[in-house]
Amino acid sequence: MKCLSCGYETEIDQNQILCPRCGGLLEILVEPPKDFSFNKLRGRGVWRYKELIAGKYKNIVSINEGNTPLIRSSNINDNLYFKFEGLNPTGSFKDRGMTVAVSSAVSLNYKTVIAASTGNTAASAAAYAARAGIKSFIVLPKGKVALGKLAQSILYGSVILEVDGSFDVAMDAVMRLYKDLKVVYPLNSFNPWRLEGQKTIAFEIAEELGVPDNVIIPVGNAGNIYAIWKGFNELVKTGVINTIPRMIGIQAEGASPIATAIIKGKDSPDFVENPDTVATAIRIGKPVNWQKAMKAIRESNGTAIVVSDSEILDAQKTLARKEGIGAEPASAAALAGYIKAINEKVVDKDEKTVLILTGHSLKDPDSMTKAEAKRILVNPLHMEKIILGEINGSNS
Ligand SMILES: *Cc1c(COP(=O)(O)O)cnc(C)c1O
Ligand SMILES: [Zn+2]
Repeated sequence: MKCLSCGYETEIDQNQILCPRCGGLLEILVEPPKDFSFNKLRGRGVWRYKELIAGKYKNIVSINEGNTPLIRSSNINDNLYFKFEGLNPTGSFKDRGMTVAVSSAVSLNYKTVIAASTGNTAASAAAYAARAGIKSFIVLPKGKVALGKLAQSILYGSVILEVDGSFDVAMDAVMRLYKDLKVVYPLNSFNPWRLEGQKTIAFEIAEELGVPDNVIIPVGNAGNIYAIWKGFNELVKTGVINTIPRMIGIQAEGASPIATAIIKGKDSPDFVENPDTVATAIRIGKPVNWQKAMKAIRESNGTAIVVSDSEILDAQKTLARKEGIGAEPASAAALAGYIKAINEKVVDKDEKTVLILTGHSLKDPDSMTKAEAKRILVNPLHMEKIILGEINGSNS
């Protein structure tokens, strides 16, 4: 393991979450087995790839996460694929990280876990803690969490701590708490063990499709783009692939510190004090993993794109109405970014491109109901005229 801030190095140690010397982010540098081959793997989902996941696990806490469908576009572009992470057990890719991090917590004998969240980490942490039979605390920005996500955390029985402030305030509180009070295990993505699970997105894409030209990922706290990049790199080390895709990060206009830094060619982002966007999962002004994300984008020869809220909501509708796929706004940001990348000739329409659809549309019912729809009050005995009118277009 190696610290991204001070360069401190240590043998792989599951007890380490942040650098013991400076508190910086740790990278887990996996040396994958040289005889690795996809054909030899057994099982499905995250733990299919256990020989590439660092750490030792006495108990594996799993709800059959991962193994999500890679859906080829049928009405937008033949070369476009959707990795639909909304079909994980709690409806987002967070479950891939949570199975590894909660298994780690249990293997290290922790009885309590905690996570700050814009909603999906909370739902996932609550579910996996419940499955493990341990206590969970989640810290949420009050009034800023999509209804479906809050409802999940309530159902799974987490203790919900609400702060008056943004996600960043909640995140700072959890980091401080973790440094002071070592009896609670933190499940946020500064915990590098979570990213060990999330990197399996790359493994599934490579196993099913090979290496695409581009992978487009919505970026919030910025762990996932790094995790996917890490996954592709480790496959290169095994020799099963020999190139990696360009990693393209998408952020929303009101919360775009990393994308802005990449576009301006700066070494580090200027954090955003009051982040705002309809895409609540990426409404983050101080992304804790910014160093990792910028490394992934730059070393993969990738880029970053900023999209507006109206582009995000349009993309959410396009995805639903052209492809039949319901994704939450943060996920639709990937499609908004793809459309922009094509228009700005950053990506060619002939390039094989995978969008990571990070979460399910049901997470955020309010955003779905913002789309316009025809809703007609009818006399149930006299619908024929209305239907025939609609079919013939005379009522439109
Ligand atoms: C967590 C999340 C993101 C952002 O992922 P990061 O790793 O924080 O960058 C994007 N979309 C959804 C739906 C999420 O739940
Ligand atoms: Zn350090």
